[in-house]
Amino acid sequence: MSLPASLTEATRAFLASPRPYLIGGAWLEGQSAPTAGIDPATGETFGEAHGASGADVDRAVAAASAAFEDKRWRGKTPAERQRILLRIADLIERDGPMLAELETLNGGKPFGAALHGEVAAAAETFRYYAGWVTKIDGGTFDPSVPGQSFLGYGRREPVGVAALITPWNGPLVMAAWKLAPAIAAGCSAILKPSELTPFTTLHLAALALEAGVPEGVIAVLPGPGRQIGAALAHHPRVAKISFTGSTAVGRQLMAEASGGLKRLSLELGGKSPVLIFADADLDAAVAGAADAIFGNAGQVCVAGSRVYVERAAYDAVVTGLADRARALRLGPGFHPETEMGPLISAAHRANVHGFVERALADGAEIATGGTMREGPGFFYEPTVLTGTAQQCEIVQQEVFGPVVTVMPFEDEAEALALANGSDYGLAASVWTGHVGRAHRVAADIRAGIVWVNSHGIPELAMPIGGMKQSGQGREHGFAGLEAFTEFKSVMVRTD
Ligand code: NAD
Repeated sequence: MSLPASLTEATRAFLASPRPYLIGGAWLEGQSAPTAGIDPATGETFGEAHGASGADVDRAVAAASAAFEDKRWRGKTPAERQRILLRIADLIERDGPMLAELETLNGGKPFGAALHGEVAAAAETFRYYAGWVTKIDGGTFDPSVPGQSFLGYGRREPVGVAALITPWNGPLVMAAWKLAPAIAAGCSAILKPSELTPFTTLHLAALALEAGVPEGVIAVLPGPGRQIGAALAHHPRVAKISFTGSTAVGRQLMAEASGGLKRLSLELGGKSPVLIFADADLDAAVAGAADAIFGNAGQVCVAGSRVYVERAAYDAVVTGLADRARALRLGPGFHPETEMGPLISAAHRANVHGFVERALADGAEIATGGTMREGPGFFYEPTVLTGTAQQCEIVQQEVFGPVVTVMPFEDEAEALALANGSDYGLAASVWTGHVGRAHRVAADIRAGIVWVNSHGIPELAMPIGGMKQSGQGREHGFAGLEAFTEFKSVMVRTD
């Protein structure tokens, strides 16, 4: 095992032995050999985690169902549950440095971004949904039954046992985005982190127990998606699946969950357009477009991977983006100068490079980048491609790396046609100085979220999710909590 010298004692102690997983309040060690956590900045093992088995899925669902049925969590008063969610937020902050170190070790992201971005956002997510716990409300109705009188009211009830399946690109914050609304609604929750990044999800569950969530309400089952994720999707007592990951697996889950008519939320892939009009503040647009694709090395669902620029500003934007790409400091996330870390794995880097090679074969030209960085770790040079055609694979498929295509457009109609000419519909941004155009274009883009003169700004109060092949359902806001509830109508005869 190899650990950076700067790591805190807390993180060293956490990683000193293979991390167990959680079922019914007990921390367990699997029967198979633990899985190594690989530091993508070095390619070396930094820790190990035990993996769950198919039988563990049954055990976890049984424990979570029992906790749901006996109401040990959903039967607490909303105020009590609110207090516990607030306590989870405080504990995330207490252990913030350790969580951020684990996120950097496991995902390669710069430590400052992990601590001040993702860990802070995870804590805020629990605070945000703590606020909703005491405000869940079904409304009242005046039924129109001839000759009889009724009071009607609605109840929003927790849906039951929810499986929360998350990807590797933001392990802690994505677990928080699902766990906080699930338990705010009163559900039991089974977390299934990516096999590549289980560590912070395991610690998040430990903090939830420490904060007072009763045993059995939360389980964490690390392990392969095809085994653990699929078993959760098939399980008859799992009522809801909330999934974030690739469109391919989302489609599979939809098929797997259909037998049991499970409630399904799918946050899937994206190929988000960045539209830059010549009347925009071009310095801000170039800086925003660079952040939109190079942040977290492009491993972001809403990454701005297709830049379309009005012809008059095209050359300036290509030059500006390429200059910014070349100036980015690549390095290990713990190095204070680092602005962009490595990709998650050697296999993923090879995938990303494959996309670039095929794009070049399709006629693309490299403005900068296009190579794997020599030396240890899975670094890939930030890459700007021009000369691509709209139907090329590189413009149509999600690369999930620091690779952006830049294409010109003539007018607003063409910009919209190009932006919407994709199977994906997750996010988009519009850069313009014209307020009317900003609203027109925002209205006509088929995407779950559109930013104007910014890109990728997270906001918990605003629902986010995909149109088209980018998914269904919304996370964040009240919609994110509602997705873990069922609506019940009650009619009370009053005459
Ligand atoms: P992935 O689809 O390979 O895996 C996601 C999760 O699903 C993992 O926990 C994995 O173990 C599990 N899984 C895999 N096969 C499964 C199966 N058959 N049944 C059930 N679960 C299964 O995705 P990834 O490579 O971990 O993450 C990258 C992808 O996630 C990208 O496509 C990215 O766009 C997407 N993503 C989307 C959002 C969003 O909010 N829309 C956010 C982050 C990432």
